[in-house]
Amino acid sequence: MHALLPPDLYDTFVATCARAPRWFNMITEQLQEVLALEIPAQDDPVESEKSVSRMTLRQVLMTGLEDVISFGKEFTGFEQHTDGTVTAHFADGSSATGDLLVGADGAGSRVRKQYLPQARMEDTGIIAIAGKLPITEESAALVPPRVFQGISMVQAPKGYFCILHVMEFKWDRSGKIKNGIGGSDAELIKVWPGLQFDNTRDYINWGFSASADKFPADVMERSGADLARLVAEMTPDWHPNLRRLFELTDPSTCFPVNIKTSVPLDPWPASNVTLIGDAIHTMTPGRGVGANTALRDAVLLCARIIDVAEGRLELVDAVGRYEAKMITYGFDAVLKSRQQMTDEDPIHKPVIGRIMLALMRTAMRVTNHVRPLRERMARSMLQYRGAGRDNADFVLPARSESSGRRLNVSRRAGGVCCSRDFTVSAKEAAGCRAYASAG
Ligand SMILES: Cc1cc2nc3c(=O)[nH]c(=O)nc-3n(C[C@H](O)[C@H](O)[C@H](O)COP(=O)(O)OP(=O)(O)OC[C@H]3O[C@@H](n4cnc5c(N)ncnc54)[C@H](O)[C@@H]3O)c2cc1C
Repeated sequence: MHALLPPDLYDTFVATCARAPRWFNMITEQLQEVLALEIPAQDDPVESEKSVSRMTLRQVLMTGLEDVISFGKEFTGFEQHTDGTVTAHFADGSSATGDLLVGADGAGSRVRKQYLPQARMEDTGIIAIAGKLPITEESAALVPPRVFQGISMVQAPKGYFCILHVMEFKWDRSGKIKNGIGGSDAELIKVWPGLQFDNTRDYINWGFSASADKFPADVMERSGADLARLVAEMTPDWHPNLRRLFELTDPSTCFPVNIKTSVPLDPWPASNVTLIGDAIHTMTPGRGVGANTALRDAVLLCARIIDVAEGRLELVDAVGRYEAKMITYGFDAVLKSRQQMTDEDPIHKPVIGRIMLALMRTAMRVTNHVRPLRERMARSMLQYRGAGRDNADFVLPARSESSGRRLNVSRRAGGVCCSRDFTVSAKEAAGCRAYASAG
């Protein structure tokens, strides 16, 4: 993000994050602490651990690109022409022609389905239900202080799992900047046009998951209050406070996810069509690095596009170099994320699962009481979450328009970016970021 965003927008991104988590907790379904790793406070706005609301992040990423993003355009297919250009077609009958098509259209990518029909997605056999509830006096009092101050994992019998993440922002429920925050943050948020469209307010986010056989067959068709009720019904022996969190959930925020993963692919010949993010390497949320990896793609692809713009590389060579690197780290993350979220894990089996849970809890409790072990575990977790940044890969041109030919950013829609000429101005290069997670 730091490499891709103009500096003032990066500051806005940091200012609009929720307060950084202080604790990473493992707890039982009875709210008992098994392990609590303290996340060291980081003043550095780049290195610090960040909790970002998806909706707010999209608003930040779209800031300054209002004139180049087209909404409501549904990509249906593309055509590659002999003159080296590519045309993207949309459901409304319109089309856009350019030099490069970047499919950033997520896990169900139509660009991928047409371009790489050999690419396969697999069910992991895990289903998750997610929901949010506003932070109120009642909901805040339902969780222990360290859980309120951090990210917590409930690991329970039957392979049941629930993540809890408390998100507190710098503006209040009416959108007014809260008192007692640093002056520069307040100023940044006040002038940020995204705030007027952002409906994010303080909330507790939860995500409950289990192997698919534990859910009713129609779970993927259910919605809203029905889903929150289902989670409460599946957890009758959980602590009443956790069950109350499920009950207090805003039904409109509840949705089921059938957790899928991509199957790593052999390299393919490069062309003027490429893919970034979930469109090529959908991964389970097991490690929480899907969006991070999409952003890494954006940094790398942007750097190669600038190489083309500045005459150092031919377009197809640049795409090939991007893909060679992306395939390696992208599918590595896919495989590691899969290991952490699959119904093949013995934790989901009846007897062995119970034994495994007991062993895991014992090992974590020991770690919790032995400081060097605890610190080593905290370091290792923070390392993989922040791993593989390509910071030094390129420097964005200054904010003013560059003198070269312009990247045609007007020809973009939804999760698909299509451009004709390949020299970028600063604003346009920054535009590449929008496709990493805003689509
Ligand atoms: C429950 C859960 C929790 C997660 N938690 C984390 C986490 O903590 N950290 C993390 O890094 N990652 C996390 N992820 C992963 C993360 O959400 C994804 O990796 C990330 O959203 C991928 O971004 P993307 O831009 O590639 O795809 P998406 O975010 O899916 O965006 C694709 C865009 O393309 C658009 N689109 C799709 N088809 C078309 C079409 N035909 N025409 C036009 N537009 C189209 C969509 O509307 C969308 O806007 C989580 C995922 C899940 C399911």
